Amino acid sequence: MAVIGIDLGTTNSLGAYWKDGAVCLIPMDEGFLLPSVVGYVEGEGYLVGAAAKERLIPCPEDTAASFKRFMGTAKEYRLGERVCTPMELSAMVLEQIKRNAEFFLKEEVEEAIITVPAYFNDKQRSDTKKAARIAGLKVDRLINEPSAAALAYRREYGEEDKTLLVFDFGGGTLDLSYVECFDNVIEIIAVAGDNHLGGDDIDQAVAEYFCRENGLLSEELTREEQAKLKKLSEEAKCALAEKDEAAMELETGGRVCRASLNEDRLFEICMPLFAKIRQLFIHILEDADSRVSGIDDLIMVGGSSKLGVVKRFLRELLGKEPIVLGETDRVVAFGAGVYAGIRQRREEIRDMLLTDVCPFTLGIGVNNRANRDKNILSPMIERNSTLPASHRDRFVTVCDYQKEIRIRIYQGEEYYVDDDVFLGELTIEVALKPAGQAWVDVRFTYDINGILHVMAENEMGERRQILLANQTLSEAELERYTREMEKIMLLPIQKPENQEMLACFLEYYENSTGQKREMIAAMTGRIMAGLSSGRKKAVRNAEETGRMWLAELRRSADMREEILFDGELKAGPGGEFDEFSEDTWDGFDKEFEEFDEE
Ligand code: ADP
Ligand code: MG
Repeated sequence: MAVIGIDLGTTNSLGAYWKDGAVCLIPMDEGFLLPSVVGYVEGEGYLVGAAAKERLIPCPEDTAASFKRFMGTAKEYRLGERVCTPMELSAMVLEQIKRNAEFFLKEEVEEAIITVPAYFNDKQRSDTKKAARIAGLKVDRLINEPSAAALAYRREYGEEDKTLLVFDFGGGTLDLSYVECFDNVIEIIAVAGDNHLGGDDIDQAVAEYFCRENGLLSEELTREEQAKLKKLSEEAKCALAEKDEAAMELETGGRVCRASLNEDRLFEICMPLFAKIRQLFIHILEDADSRVSGIDDLIMVGGSSKLGVVKRFLRELLGKEPIVLGETDRVVAFGAGVYAGIRQRREEIRDMLLTDVCPFTLGIGVNNRANRDKNILSPMIERNSTLPASHRDRFVTVCDYQKEIRIRIYQGEEYYVDDDVFLGELTIEVALKPAGQAWVDVRFTYDINGILHVMAENEMGERRQILLANQTLSEAELERYTREMEKIMLLPIQKPENQEMLACFLEYYENSTGQKREMIAAMTGRIMAGLSSGRKKAVRNAEETGRMWLAELRRSADMREEILFDGELKAGPGGEFDEFSEDTWDGFDKEFEEFDEE
């Protein structure tokens, strides 16, 4: 039984599998690409792929494309007799890939790893899984497209610790992801993007240029001519990969219109799009709390990344050469294939950890003093938090002797909760006290499967909890998730070994004076900040450095005892007796700097 990896794209989809230690792509109608297009032919039935794409222009009313954009919504496509949802259309694409794979592998395909954009929300992810189920595929785990690209990069460039920026420029969307790879972990730190910025927009800009050159108004063209011009524009754009100049020609209103396209012209045409891309870079670097120099490598992914002008723009923007891993539109599928390989050799699965981010802010509605009718969102888990994420906050009553507190849970970035997406609610009793004196602690825990667990605990120690998941869970599953959540809820700082470490620091602190005491306070503060940062790399750094510093303190304490017994106590740099040498102080100063840089 084979496991395959699938890049279910907006424009094109691909399938990959793992064989003898390497990834192989599954042949489709256009080389390795299966256009994500579904069509209906009267009397014949449904078509998927290149044959359906051919019919986009002559039969637009019986053809559906770019439906991935509407995944998770109730949008309907009428194809012949039937009304299809984006989920059903995606299922048809997946089924076609499954069929091609089985034909090619001469083996039944039962399971698939499917990639989705990092920003896909719960509904979009669960609809993708449902589509797979309709297509007869078992899907345990969806992986994010940038994580797949990072996997592909690591196979090519080795598994050194690196910070990557994945630039995925497809047919309809641009997705930027800031990804950190360390040890066996691939962590998405931040995502940014525009889901209306892609190859289609470049085609549109080229078409407008063609009209300008020929004094045409695009509204004057018939629908057919407009479609033809769009196709012509895409062909001219793609031709620049092979030649310097591409000629365009269109017959309209009894005359032949012409224009020619070259790299410089295209660069100019794309300027407004590049300005948008630049803004997205600013956005993601701010969200990741980084800068251009913090990126080790920029990886170009997606069909539109094949454009020489895009590479040129990125080179100028970042001042370094972007990495191209073979054909840019195959990278995500390649990574999915690597993951399918990991999956097949089950024992290795724990070796590779893909951590995801929460694409939206999750929070609860709280009273707004300025306007009592409009509650505002108090964020609990911020957008781009690494998953699994857990956060606790205390909320107080707003009325005197209020009996209970109702916790309403929302997802979104809007200030007023009315504009965010309502997810669910729970109610908990509180102590009868004047306003602001009774409280509840609320904890949000969000895991990599997109399941949100909210727990409230009042001052009497009573608990209420709710699990918010898109699919309805059975009692047994609910129980299992709750147990797993409890493990995640243990923050790094609460782990017994870290608590013990902090206790040691405090003991040294209590037993010291003066400058040494300050130094230990500074150390403890940094370790605590690192442990509660919520960022894996910082946590790991705090754990390692903490242990190192403790060892140093222990050593100096031992030394002190020796000195004491030898009766040779010397004056240290603090003017008092201290066994820390100047070098040790300088050493710590430098280590602090390094620590803060992390
Ligand atoms: P998606 O991820 O959106 O499904 P792809 O990554 O396959 O899509 O990218 C599709 C886009 O790539 C289309 O807009 C197409 O015009 C563009 N494209 C494909 N080949 C080339 C090329 N050689 N030069 C420029 N653009 C290309
Ligand atoms: Mg893609």
